[in-house]
Amino acid sequence: MTNSYFSKQLSSITEKGNLRILPTVKECGYEIIKDGKHMLNLSSNDYLGLAGDTALKEEFLSHVSPGKFSFTSSSSRLLTGNSGEYDYLEKQLARLFDSEAALVFNSGYHANSGILPAVADHHSLILADKLVHASIVDGIGLSRARCIRFRHNNYEQLERLLSENHRNYEHIFIVTESIFSMDGDECDLNRLVELKKQYGNVFLYVDEAHAFGVRGERGLGCSEQYDHLHDIDFLVGTFGKALASIGAYLICSKEIKSYLVNTMRPLIFTTALPPVNLQWTSFVLNKMVYMNDKRIYLSHISRLLREKTDKLKSNSKSHIIPFITGTADSAVNASLYLQRHGFYLLPVRPPTVPEGTSRLRISLHAACTEEQIERLVINLNTCKI
Ligand code: PMP
Repeated sequence: MTNSYFSKQLSSITEKGNLRILPTVKECGYEIIKDGKHMLNLSSNDYLGLAGDTALKEEFLSHVSPGKFSFTSSSSRLLTGNSGEYDYLEKQLARLFDSEAALVFNSGYHANSGILPAVADHHSLILADKLVHASIVDGIGLSRARCIRFRHNNYEQLERLLSENHRNYEHIFIVTESIFSMDGDECDLNRLVELKKQYGNVFLYVDEAHAFGVRGERGLGCSEQYDHLHDIDFLVGTFGKALASIGAYLICSKEIKSYLVNTMRPLIFTTALPPVNLQWTSFVLNKMVYMNDKRIYLSHISRLLREKTDKLKSNSKSHIIPFITGTADSAVNASLYLQRHGFYLLPVRPPTVPEGTSRLRISLHAACTEEQIERLVINLNTCKI
């Protein structure tokens, strides 16, 4: 009975071309090896190419020995899991961002699904961009605040919503990503900061998951690039992408940090990150700030790809470039075509993206050569959708 219910649901997902399976792949440097075939990996978020950097890993391992690190913290942060590595990393982040405080979480999903439910209550209004990441959507769902989703990057609508509502709520939270994960376009941080500053009760929450490591002279994100490091109340970023590690951070005031330590469920009720991961994060972070040459190169090849192919009529302004095919089936076919030609690009389908906008999400990294980009352009142009 139960099984037939799930089979029916799965048949319906399959009929729409949206069935997902967990692909078993082997990574080797910047390649994916599948069924014996080597393909350039353009589906990961290793934007600076650090996850595939063997020399970097060797350097890190030469500093650690089994006696000096642990693979587990064995407890939550409020019990015995709050190792000295947390304190080191949070101080390192606060120093870099020139902020009062930083708070580290197990993942971006933990951060986004936990911060809003902790800080926004039924006296609050959340105004969130229509395309924010699922982890933020889940955080909004778990909070007791009212939420209105404004049209993607539509600040006229946002302005109207602020002016209509700011007297009716104790706090309003404007929530956005800086570089959007599926379209690679950007929010207008200057405009958002300007809007927020018009009201005394408006907080700005920005997720820099796809900009951290990639934007700004020191890689701190669009907030550094556009000189708004001190204008964002909740500045979130993740370590699992350009930083080649795991976890996430929030840059905030001392009060907000302390408040979250007391109220945020995904911070309180989970086992802390293993010290070895925190050490690796700190190690890579120290190096990442000096990798501006990689950021400049990534921006160069991203522009090259965007300019050289007519098919990618996207709004992308970054290293994330969608190849929108429309139907789920066409995205699957395009993915198979490009895999046959040596590019590991996976289909992204609903519910990850809106119906009718299935795509390949091309995610460039600083280890791609110009020759590989040229070859990709040729194959995108010959790919029938
Ligand atoms: N925010 C955004 C914008 C993301 O794209 C993602 C994951 N891709 C997350 C948060 C979640 O981060 P994590 O993978 O560290 O859970």
